[in-house]
Amino acid sequence: MNITIVGGGFGGVKAALELAKDNDTKVTLITNNKNFVYYPSLYSTATGHDHKESWVPIEFIFRDHANVKITYDAITSIDPAKKTITGSKTYKYTKLILSLGSVTTYFGIEGLDHYAFGIKSEQEIRTLQKHLFRQMGDEGVVDKNYVIIGGGPTGVELAGALGQYLEKLRVFFGLRDQKIHITVVEANPRLLPRMSKQASSAALKRLRKLGVRVETNKMVQSASAKGLMVSGKPIETQTIIWTSGVANAPFFKQNAQHFNFNPRGKVVVDDYLQARPDVFVIGDNADTPLSGLAQTAIHDGVFVARHLLQLKNNEKPKKYKTKNLGVVVPIGYNWSIYERGGIRLTGALGAFMRDAADIVGHHDILPMGHAIDTWRAGTRPRLRIPEDLSATE
Ligand SMILES: Cc1cc2nc3c(=O)[nH]c(=O)nc-3n(C[C@H](O)[C@H](O)[C@H](O)COP(=O)(O)OP(=O)(O)OC[C@H]3O[C@@H](n4cnc5c(N)ncnc54)[C@H](O)[C@@H]3O)c2cc1C
Repeated sequence: MNITIVGGGFGGVKAALELAKDNDTKVTLITNNKNFVYYPSLYSTATGHDHKESWVPIEFIFRDHANVKITYDAITSIDPAKKTITGSKTYKYTKLILSLGSVTTYFGIEGLDHYAFGIKSEQEIRTLQKHLFRQMGDEGVVDKNYVIIGGGPTGVELAGALGQYLEKLRVFFGLRDQKIHITVVEANPRLLPRMSKQASSAALKRLRKLGVRVETNKMVQSASAKGLMVSGKPIETQTIIWTSGVANAPFFKQNAQHFNFNPRGKVVVDDYLQARPDVFVIGDNADTPLSGLAQTAIHDGVFVARHLLQLKNNEKPKKYKTKNLGVVVPIGYNWSIYERGGIRLTGALGAFMRDAADIVGHHDILPMGHAIDTWRAGTRPRLRIPEDLSATE
């Protein structure tokens, strides 16, 4: 059996690993990034922890899997009639799995694409860190305000970790008597709007304890070199970090004639995650109830791989069912909120759940020994000077 997978993220890598267990199956994994990115810890890498916890070379993950061929390319189109996909070259497929993830969107807010930093890729993190180092190191100032837009998990996690990191930088550069102000701006009436009200209140209390200002019910209207306009009021800042707004991978819009979409632009799939004959769409791209989570992409990858193996072995295929492992949001050192159904744990117990989730998450992709090493890399904070700080952008 030959399977082509596009996307070397949670869904694509997990599907390839599962299929690779079958010696009669040959997998071609096409992806546009040489690294697998572990998004849940990007906030931590952005605030000085070892990058090993956040990205792992794809070649390393598949080093022992001779039946997985890795190709680096960005796929831009599909021709289902000819069963081909095209990037810099055209590739034939018999069965295709698409797991292309999400991209940032600024909802058309003026100036954000130019003035906001992001933490959704290696490059974005390096750019943000260079900015922070340059401000304090070269200009000798801390910013008037470090503004994080978005009070979802990523914004809250970052807000919880940023203060400690900036404080270390401030001491490192000998900037005395300069106070650090961090503000989170959220359009919804509460933080973590997809979690319970109790979780939102706990997050608010925790952030306030860490000295973070929280502005809910506030709309960002524009960004400029001077700062932000938020619900009619200016906020002076040179450091705007956008953690809000994700949209489906642009590939689908570019090939819209071949897919059906839900109102949020996710691809409609059947009970087997199939979007059209022999084309499976999984992870963030698929219109499933828990789409948008790493655990869902992993679950989808395993499901589709097993489904294809069931078809190959003439077994009766099972229908897709969602799997909810809960959500855990770390806020500062040794403190997290874990929530699943009616269960909620906060503080050190929540932090324990987060550590467990990260070890399991890394182990989904790596053998246990490497997964623990990768997780431990993130537990060692270091004041890392961005390597190419002197390079001009
Ligand atoms: C900052 C951040 C923090 C997050 N934290 C959490 C968390 O704590 N818990 C949680 O459950 N989820 C979290 N998520 C969500 C989670 O990371 C995603 O749901 C998950 O990555 C989805 O997996 P995927 O396989 O669909 O896409 P991805 O993991 O994004 O993989 C997509 C892959 O496709 C590649 N690709 C894209 N387009 C093309 C193309 N045209 N051609 C070839 N290759 C292409 C990309 O380079 C990437 O390798 C977070 C997301 C972000 C951005």
